[in-house]
Amino acid sequence: MQTAAAQAPIAPVDLAAERAELGSALHEAVLRVLDSGKYVLGPEVEAFERAFAAHHGVAHGVGLATGTDALWLGLLALGVKPCDSVVTSPFTFFASAASIALIGATVRLADVDYDTALLDPVKAEAAIDARTTAVLPVHLYGQLADMRAFRALCDKRKLALLEDGAQAHGSTRDGYACGQLGDAGTFSFYVTKNLGAAGEGGIVLTQRADVAQALRQLRDHGSPTKYVHTRIGTNSRLQALQAAILNVKLPHLERWNARRRQLAARYERNFAGLDAVAPMKLAPGATHTYHQYTVRIRGERSREHVLAELAKQQIFAGVHYPSPVHLQEAARGWGYGPGDFPNAERLAREVLCLPVHPFLSDADVDRVSQAVRAAAGV
Ligand SMILES: *Cc1c(COP(=O)(O)O)cnc(C)c1O
Repeated sequence: MQTAAAQAPIAPVDLAAERAELGSALHEAVLRVLDSGKYVLGPEVEAFERAFAAHHGVAHGVGLATGTDALWLGLLALGVKPCDSVVTSPFTFFASAASIALIGATVRLADVDYDTALLDPVKAEAAIDARTTAVLPVHLYGQLADMRAFRALCDKRKLALLEDGAQAHGSTRDGYACGQLGDAGTFSFYVTKNLGAAGEGGIVLTQRADVAQALRQLRDHGSPTKYVHTRIGTNSRLQALQAAILNVKLPHLERWNARRRQLAARYERNFAGLDAVAPMKLAPGATHTYHQYTVRIRGERSREHVLAELAKQQIFAGVHYPSPVHLQEAARGWGYGPGDFPNAERLAREVLCLPVHPFLSDADVDRVSQAVRAAAGV
């Protein structure tokens, strides 16, 4: 009998399989940029900005160096100042909250929903204080927060609305994509995202011409023309080489996302009716793109036990995220402590993100599912 350890590893991403599928197109794109000599901004970046914005039904796209810069500069472009506060989620990659703190503004947190891990609009409203000027919902794991509720809230309270779509390329909710209902929506093209560069990249999508114009200046030291500086900005431009790679990959995004959905549906069937292995729930009206396929391990066996058992069988799951934002050392001065956001804290203990990239087979999903059930004892 074949032992489990002899089986091929199953990892959260398979960059080699993606490269093999794209064939020579990537090499040709990279050579095209090298031969053109246009390395900073230029036609590849402009083409990608147009294509990515059109893909999401948004008027403007501004390519930036990283997803973190997209959040930071996005908040600046929307007018957030050091004396302001911004409401966001305590259960996200740390960058969402850090972008607020980078400006010197106050981070106001509100708990997430336990079943979707998305910022709860009712709790977000309760977290608004006299200095709040913006709300920053995070589209965690590949499904959008309730943007119609956040739009209504921000209209009522006259607040800016920035969406963190770093995990939501191609996702929609109630038919709206990231960047359509918010004043702006941000994306990351870090290697492992659903659409990844060969390195780093980011973009802000916005329907507002004034916000797009502000961002074009902010990414270029506040400079509308050479050596004229009308505001303080930074150097944060999407590289032409990365844009060329993203131009090759973008036409495959919907097919890759559809494959992720198929794999997720198979996991759902394999875990149906279990309480100890409880998949996160689909939000109403959401088209999920499964940047992560996440279950909550909440039986007698701990998440750490399940993670270790999977690793023994060469199955490498992830934990996004093992600590909520407010319990990180860097957040010490923000005025929060243990017990403040019970859903975020419980999710940080329970979540396990199973491999779901588009190059997995159905048999891989079954192997992972069986290993999870065995390790969880159900
Ligand atoms: C990846 C990620 C970011 C940061 O993007 P970078 O390109 O790595 O800077 C921000 N928010 C969320 C939710 C992310 O997953």
